[in-house]
Amino acid sequence: MVGGGVIGLTTAVVLAERGRPVRLWTRDPVERTTSVVAGGLWWPYRIEPVALAQAWALRSLDVYEELAARPEETGVRLLEGVLGETGPDEVGAWAAARLPGLRASTAAEYAGQGLWARLPVIDMSTHLPWLRERLVRAGGVVEERSVTDLAEADAPVVVNCTGLGARDLVPDPAVRPVRGQLVVVENPGIRNWLVSADTDSGETTYFLPQPGRLLLGGTAEEDAWSAEPDPAVAEAIVRRCAALRPEIAGARVLAHRVGLRPARDAVRLERGTLADGRRLVHNYGHGGAGVTVAWGCAQEAARLAS
Ligand SMILES: Cc1cc2nc3c(=O)[nH]c(=O)nc-3n(C[C@H](O)[C@H](O)[C@H](O)COP(=O)(O)OP(=O)(O)OC[C@H]3O[C@@H](n4cnc5c(N)ncnc54)[C@H](O)[C@@H]3O)c2cc1C
Repeated sequence: MVGGGVIGLTTAVVLAERGRPVRLWTRDPVERTTSVVAGGLWWPYRIEPVALAQAWALRSLDVYEELAARPEETGVRLLEGVLGETGPDEVGAWAAARLPGLRASTAAEYAGQGLWARLPVIDMSTHLPWLRERLVRAGGVVEERSVTDLAEADAPVVVNCTGLGARDLVPDPAVRPVRGQLVVVENPGIRNWLVSADTDSGETTYFLPQPGRLLLGGTAEEDAWSAEPDPAVAEAIVRRCAALRPEIAGARVLAHRVGLRPARDAVRLERGTLADGRRLVHNYGHGGAGVTVAWGCAQEAARLAS
């Protein structure tokens, strides 16, 4: 296995728990992956193809609902909130039956049209180390090591979960960064999450309560590579969130975060072959929804690997 973000770790857990010997190589520890930056809301956003992503998301939902029984340990919680600018029809076909309590939001909950939903919200700073420990308990081995050629991996099957790293490694120029910036603030008492889309500017504004903090977002800049937080962008994020909930304006800023989403015209989840004939499975390019689809994609990758 190459790649130790949410996609690589989840795939490795599924393989190891099916009895496969797993050795995972990762350039970065989990604390430095894109996955640790993710807000952690279960919702397919900026991922293609949409229909497949919805199916993977629903399979992941089954798992996250189970994990939410042990939130302190797994980092997974079920929290209520509002999906702004979303009508019942947009989720009717694929998710409504699986999301009990879905209803139109009231004017007190959100000024525009919105849907009130109870969804998994995953604290990635707890979830990723928990996945790594679950992998080790299942007999997997994690090693920090950078790979320049997938054929370096001395295994009968190589699974490639390198996210944006696949751009150089495969190489696959179709994987491109979509930069996202977040502001982490002290939570001024907000218990529900909110995602609001400005249909004119295309900007999405959101806040997500996580243990001990509130995450404010967001941005989506295509082909932007800078990992440095931009103070002007951070200010604009706080301003947009405060327009939705005024108490956010005075919240103490704890940190700034930047992540590069591994976007692709379609997630690459398929079987291939290395030059020497060994099996290769690709699982990368999950854009803005890697957490949302991780378990569905991991189950499919494990099937392709066997
Ligand atoms: C601001 C922001 C908010 C987000 N919010 C959400 C959200 O609310 N919900 C959601 O579902 N998704 C969200 N996402 C998207 C999500 O973070 C990504 O889709 C997901 O993290 C991708 O996971 P990954 O494992 O493929 O990539 P990564 O986390 O980037 O992991 C890639 C791994 O591959 C390793 N690697 C790369 N190249 C090599 C190499 N050559 N050799 C060895 N190892 C290598 C890296 O070290 C790393 O371990 C958000 C993203 C951002 C930036």
